[in-house]
Parts: sequence; C-alpha cells; structure tokens
Amino acid sequence: LVQVLERCMPRVTEPARHEHAERMSWSVQDLKSAIMKEQFVPYFQPKASLADGQVRGAEVLARWNHPEAGVLGPYHFIPVMEREGLIDLLTESLLHQALQASRTLAENGTPIKLAINASPLTLQDVGVPNRWRAIAMEHGVPPERIIIEVTETAVAENFIGLLETVTRLRMHGFGVALDDFGTCFSSLQQLSEFPITEVKIDRSFVMRAPATPRGHMIFESILALSHRLGLDTVAEGIETREQLDFVTSAGCTTAQGFLIAKPSSFATLRTLLADIPAPQATQAV
Ligand code: C2E
Ligand code: MG
Ligand code: MG
Ligand code: MG
Repeated sequence: LVQVLERCMPRVTEPARHEHAERMSWSVQDLKSAIMKEQFVPYFQPKASLADGQVRGAEVLARWNHPEAGVLGPYHFIPVMEREGLIDLLTESLLHQALQASRTLAENGTPIKLAINASPLTLQDVGVPNRWRAIAMEHGVPPERIIIEVTETAVAENFIGLLETVTRLRMHGFGVALDDFGTCFSSLQQLSEFPITEVKIDRSFVMRAPATPRGHMIFESILALSHRLGLDTVAEGIETREQLDFVTSAGCTTAQGFLIAKPSSFATLRTLLADIPAPQATQAV
C-alpha cells in the first residue's frame, strides 16, 4: 500500500490568490455561524453528454459568499472545515441547498442529476447513507438523482474504510463517482472492486493525454475498462477544442470544463437549461 501511495502524484494546491482571505483567520464559531447563515452556497458546473451535447447533470461546487472578502473557493475553507470537525455540517448544508435546487429543476421540467463532493472524513461514518437518504426524501428528491463524488486518492488511502459507506449509498440508490481519477495509478484493480457508477478522469490527465501516443494508450485503456464495467466516463477540465475532440473520439460519455461551462449560480444554471432542449425525464431520472 505504501508503494501504491507513493505513486500517487502530489495534488497541486491552488495558489491562494485572495489576499483578503489570506490575512483572515476564522474561529470555529465564525465558521459555524457562517454555515448556519447559509453563506456557503452551491455553484453548479454542467456536465454535457458527448453523444448529443445535452446537459444531463451538474456538479455542486462549494463557494463562500463572504461578507467582506467576496466569493471564496473551496481551497480557502474545505481544509479548515475538515481540521475543525465542521465538514459534515457544511456538507449537509450544501446537500439541503442542492436538494432544493434539484426539486426546483424537476418542477421546471429539467430533472438533471446533481453531484456533491464528499470528504473522506464524512464517508468514514457508515450512518451517512441513511441520513442522506432521509434528507433527500424530506425534499422529495429520489436518491437516484444525486451522485456522491469521492476522490480516487481518498479511496486509495482508505479502501476498506470507505467501501461500507459507498456500498450503502449505492443500495439506497445514490450514484457514486470516483473523482480526479488518473492522479493515482493504484486503481485499475480497485476500480473494478469499488461499487461506483461513474469515473471522472482528472483534468491533469485530460491535458496530457492528447499529446503523446502513451497518453492516448493509457486514456483509452481506462475508458475500455470503465465501459466494460458499465461505468459512465466523465472527462474533467475540458478547456480546448482539441481536448474535447480527443475525449469524444476516445469514447468518453460525458464532458465537463470551462469550454462547456464554468461553475455558476443556480439562476445561471436555470437559464442555461432553459436555453437548450430539456432532456427526456425518463433518461435523466
Ligand atoms: P473537483 O471536485 O475535482 O472539482 C473540479 C474543480 O475544477 C472545480 O474547482 C472547478 O471549478 C474546476 N474546473 C472545472 N472545469 C475546469 C476547467 O476547464 N479548467 C480548470 N482550470 N478548472 C476547472 P473548485 O470549485 O475550485 O473546487 C476545487 C475542489 O474542491 C474540487 O475539485 C473538490 O475536490 C473540492 N470541493 C469543492 N466543493 C466541495 C464540497 O462541497 N465538499 C468537499 N469536500 N470538497 C469540495
Ligand atoms: Mg468533484
Ligand atoms: Mg474532480
Ligand atoms: Mg480534478
């Protein structure tokens, strides 16, 4: 396992550019009350089907509407939330807001799937699937319309610890995506043994793959295995036409990235969905 972990590429941490935010330090009380006031809001980044270009899903990405510092991205607060034991509270707040959004989208005739990022700390608690199903029911949203994203690194580091929770999530009907796939070469075996519904191939991988024959080969092997396992394949971080063409011809089912759409507010997502033909309700569950 140590060898496996050593082969994981170090995550490139986003440079903290937000000077105001850098100078601030938050107490547990500040953070908690910011969660309660719903200062943490979901942004939504669409996922487009490569077969027909339709948007059948969106990923929820946390943002902090900070009263003084403006809109802050997750690198400013996810690590501190994890450190201070507040990540479960934050995730449930985002889940509530995402479920409200999901309900509204269904009522508008655009019942796309929403994906939530979950911290491995949260997923170590085997009570989470029951609780989240109850929350989904409360909002009148079937769990089938929600995907939980867990990173490949989290799974590589604690395969057994997450297996039980993820199996229960699947039993309740939630989809499960393996996020940032390709940043850690541990997982062709694990990929086949973990009960996921979707593989999200990491941006760094998508960027490198089109350039070299070896990159092509590895990318295509991942897709071939994923498809044989019946998994959806999402290419993350598509920024150029060349990357889009490459992942399309390689056979990815879905694409996400700035070229298609940036993360946006719920209002913007609704406008975007209204502008394009709605997917069939039966296909989008
Ligand atoms: P992720 O789940 O892999 O999300 C994709 C990240 O890539 C997002 O950054 C998104 O804005 C960015 N992205 C999407 N398309 C492109 C592109 O074409 N080019 C580039 N350069 N970037 C692109 P964001 O929103 O800053 O989130 C960063 C990470 O923070 C996420 O990576 C996820 O791991 C974590 N995160 C976000 N929200 C939550 C949350 O609610 N809970 C937890 N536990 N983690 C979260
Ligand atoms: Mg994600
Ligand atoms: Mg990702
Ligand atoms: Mg990524």
